[in-house]
Amino acid sequence: MAKLKSNDIPLSVFENAMQQFDEAASKLNIDADMLEVLKHPRKSLIVKLPIRRDNGKIEVFTGYRVQHSINRGPAKGGVRYHPKVNLDEVMALAAWMTWKCAVVGIPFGGAKGGIACDPTTMSQRELEYLTRRYTSEIMDIIGPERDVPAPDVNTNPQTMAWMMDTFSMHHRQTVTAAVTGKPIEIGGSRGRVEATGRGVMIAAREAARHKDLPFEGATVAVQGFGNVGSMAAKLMHRAGCKIVAVSDVFGAVYNEQGLYIPHLIDYVKENGKIVGFPEAEAISHEELLSMDCDILVPAALENVIREDNAPSIRAKIIAEGANGPITPDADKILNKKGVFIVPDILCNAGGVTVSYFEWVQDRMGYFWEEEEVNHRLETVIVRAFNDVLKMAEEHTVSMRIAAFMLAIKRVMDVTMMRGFYS
Ligand code: NAD
Repeated sequence: MAKLKSNDIPLSVFENAMQQFDEAASKLNIDADMLEVLKHPRKSLIVKLPIRRDNGKIEVFTGYRVQHSINRGPAKGGVRYHPKVNLDEVMALAAWMTWKCAVVGIPFGGAKGGIACDPTTMSQRELEYLTRRYTSEIMDIIGPERDVPAPDVNTNPQTMAWMMDTFSMHHRQTVTAAVTGKPIEIGGSRGRVEATGRGVMIAAREAARHKDLPFEGATVAVQGFGNVGSMAAKLMHRAGCKIVAVSDVFGAVYNEQGLYIPHLIDYVKENGKIVGFPEAEAISHEELLSMDCDILVPAALENVIREDNAPSIRAKIIAEGANGPITPDADKILNKKGVFIVPDILCNAGGVTVSYFEWVQDRMGYFWEEEEVNHRLETVIVRAFNDVLKMAEEHTVSMRIAAFMLAIKRVMDVTMMRGFYS
């Protein structure tokens, strides 16, 4: 298997996240001391994970779990396996989770975790050992009422099954609500696999409606064809959009008439990548980003749209499937160009929203039909979109700053309500 590409961009993701936070906070006239409380993670844990590789050698990996806030409820956030995982990135992703949960109004704080590793070079046995060791090392700070992990880049329902099982073995009982994004058979929610992509589709549809752009027939380019990108593409295709280009880490494909997404999904299942898909022509990663299309969905990693490539973006709407795909400098350029950006903390909140539904169902021991999950998700995302839009219009700010303002205000309000224990 090929090694994952790592992009060597010397940007601090946490600093980026804080720039957005500072800009939004300044519009809310928040006291400097309160800002300090809201900004910094409450707890950061770094763990060493020695694993015996299949070749008999011991390798020590580094894992992280950062809880940014528990003010609105238990901390919540995914676990990422990637060579570039580091404390700075995990801190930023944890903070984004706090704001994301607040934007959609679900009763969680924010957390994130990860292991610096290249899962494409590891066997299932090695991944299972790594996941179980990681879970046992962070055991003291996670749990249904403390901090609830979920999948993120390169982790999946199987990873969550191992985490849930490890947690349960230590607690001598099955604790399904310890993690979300599990397989349905062991307490997962119907609709969870599609949830983030569905949220992206709904948010993009609302953005198109707001911009008077017909969603049916809208041309779409999707960067990244993993959980988020493939599901967003599938559901947007089903809603009548024309998905003209899609990329993954290996390359990009284009079809002017629109790609038939179910065929592409089958092709990727068989071949592991989109490159070589017979119903399309190959294009470069850069060509996909600068494509003349109505909607661009970055759904891969952070910092992919930067000061250098932002001027070439031609999409009218950007729906951020990934977390932090646009740097603050690029954001300014795109705002000036009049691109309507649906920010990550709103656009990709469908996953955590259905994770919340999963946690609720696990605690009730009663499971909903998929229609009910999808219907509730639709209600949450549409309401959050309108709340953010209202804030943006009232304060004449971008959707991103409005989303941060809404979230910061919600977190600040409960922080004041709870007071400071000392
Ligand atoms: P994934 O691992 O399933 O998929 C990532 C995809 O991006 C893969 O297709 C990979 O090949 C592609 N990719 C990586 N680097 C690329 C590059 N340079 N150019 C083009 N494609 C590239 O991950 P995912 O779960 O789909 O997550 C994607 C993003 O969405 C991440 O930023 C993640 O934090 C965010 N997110 C995920 C969820 C979720 O529920 N999975 C929820 C909210 C946000």
